[in-house]
Amino acid sequence: MKILIIEDEAELREVLTRSLTAERYVVETAATYREARSKAMIYHYDCLLLDIMLPDGNGLDLLRALTEAGRRTNVIILSAKDSIDDKVAGLDLGADDYLPKPFHLAELHARLKSVLRRRTRNGERLLQCGNVSLNPETFQAEVEGRNLELGRKEFDILVYFMNRLNQLVEKQTLAEAVWGDHTDQADNFDFIYAQIKNLRKRLKEAGAGIEIKTAYGFGYKLTLV
Ligand code: CA
Repeated sequence: MKILIIEDEAELREVLTRSLTAERYVVETAATYREARSKAMIYHYDCLLLDIMLPDGNGLDLLRALTEAGRRTNVIILSAKDSIDDKVAGLDLGADDYLPKPFHLAELHARLKSVLRRRTRNGERLLQCGNVSLNPETFQAEVEGRNLELGRKEFDILVYFMNRLNQLVEKQTLAEAVWGDHTDQADNFDFIYAQIKNLRKRLKEAGAGIEIKTAYGFGYKLTLV
């Protein structure tokens, strides 16, 4: 899962980055309204953590701009201004949750999981395709109830595909979702081929009822066998 932290206070930004990275999120950051806007308009994030008071703008305006551009995304507002007006305005503009500063990291993690579960998996804890089930919160994978050992990136790739069964996924899009920033500057996609190859092998050996097909010159597609 890929998160964009929009926060101008460097120290808080770093604490959040470290803490979310430790929880296995792919994390990107923006310190200004301008930077946040350009990232959120171009890339896909599973959730934005949005500060309201930014040096060059207001987080609520970003929510408005994203909605107008048809780029609906999960948003948790992190605001030092614990004002009911901001909270109401933010939720009205489509934010999923609101967390006043200061907050405990444990609470942020819990809210983030809840938003992702609700918005991305219709409230389901498990992600299920065929006889394969994944728990994105505990990082456990099973095939017909038997444990399936996956490497970290293999697991992240499979989560990404299982959220998009039968959809064509571009290599570039997959790279950005699973590896984050700077993959658009990568010379080639060898790192993806290697992971996909291993993942296919593990799925096949475990008797999984899903497979990752190659769409030549484009990317991949997860289908039921
Ligand atoms: Ca701020």
